[in-house]
Amino acid sequence: MKRQASSPEETSALLGWYDRHRRDLPWRAKPGETPDPYRVWLSEVMLQQTTVATVKNRYAAFLERWPTVAALAEASLDDVLHEWQGLGYYARARNLHRCAQAVAALPDARFPATEAGLRDLPGIGDYTAAAIAAIAFNQPTAAVDGNVIRVITRLRGIADVMPAGKAAVARAVEPLVPDDRPGDFAQAMMDLGATVCSPRNPRCELCPWQGMCVAARSRNPERFPAKPAKKQRPTRYGTVFWITDREGRVALRTRAEKGLLGGMAEFPSTDWRDVPWSSDEAIAEAPLVQSWTPLDGEVEHTFTHFHLKLAVLTGGPVSPNAIPEGYRLISPKAFSGEALPTVMKKVAALVAKAYSS
Ligand code: SF4
Repeated sequence: MKRQASSPEETSALLGWYDRHRRDLPWRAKPGETPDPYRVWLSEVMLQQTTVATVKNRYAAFLERWPTVAALAEASLDDVLHEWQGLGYYARARNLHRCAQAVAALPDARFPATEAGLRDLPGIGDYTAAAIAAIAFNQPTAAVDGNVIRVITRLRGIADVMPAGKAAVARAVEPLVPDDRPGDFAQAMMDLGATVCSPRNPRCELCPWQGMCVAARSRNPERFPAKPAKKQRPTRYGTVFWITDREGRVALRTRAEKGLLGGMAEFPSTDWRDVPWSSDEAIAEAPLVQSWTPLDGEVEHTFTHFHLKLAVLTGGPVSPNAIPEGYRLISPKAFSGEALPTVMKKVAALVAKAYSS
């Protein structure tokens, strides 16, 4: 990154504001403390696509259970996925585990101190590498995420449509990163975007950049960043087979590690396709021959790229020997010990509701 000798006025104003208004976050080193790269990394991965409030709840439990990267590297993937519940996007949890193992396998078993070295690790993209390099290792890197895009497009009046305009934002933010306090700058940008320059109703009157900001002068800062027209999410359909034995235990299995909900537990189901399944079509796909009872209602869940509607067919009791290969029988009381994603919890809740009424 091309460096300049002195920090511009915007940088001084932002850092002065940060010194007065910085958020006290559990993973953040206090002034004068040396940041712990493990904590910085853990919080940054958790914060990808998850709110600070949710991360606050999960971070402490994670840290208590696995206080070091070496401890996390030795954990089972199942335990990590289970502890990750509530944070969503489970691919991050799998990458978190792989990353911990990759770090533990390095000659000095420490996180690399450079942006490039960090980017080579599983689950660490451009933004996270730059953020960790700045915060944990005081490297003068420019971390550009949605938050930074919003604040910088407003400050400079960058009208490019996102995400294509990200390069213009990177060019605009680089000269603002100070050599002496890059970690504080990255965290100040996070705080400014979270508490002042919010997506809706930015509080320009409280902003250290008010007098320098193009969007504030326009009196319509919310029009930045310019967004492309929204695509409709498609809807997919599936049918779940709720198979029980005489003890009320339910058949479930672990999904393949790769792909959506990889490594998570699921009940048997048809494929999830673009058109609804009739009962006859679904039964033809059932993992065993059995008489099936359709449940009233359906489960709806929204993933990043599609909505899902699931019908449920119940069957049983079946003999444990009849359970299809690859499935195991688990009592609903023991579901809390399984890495069940939210969509499967909704299936279990629909069944529980049907049988309690
Ligand atoms: Fe955002 Fe307003 Fe600050 Fe500009 S002045 S950066 S629009 S809060």
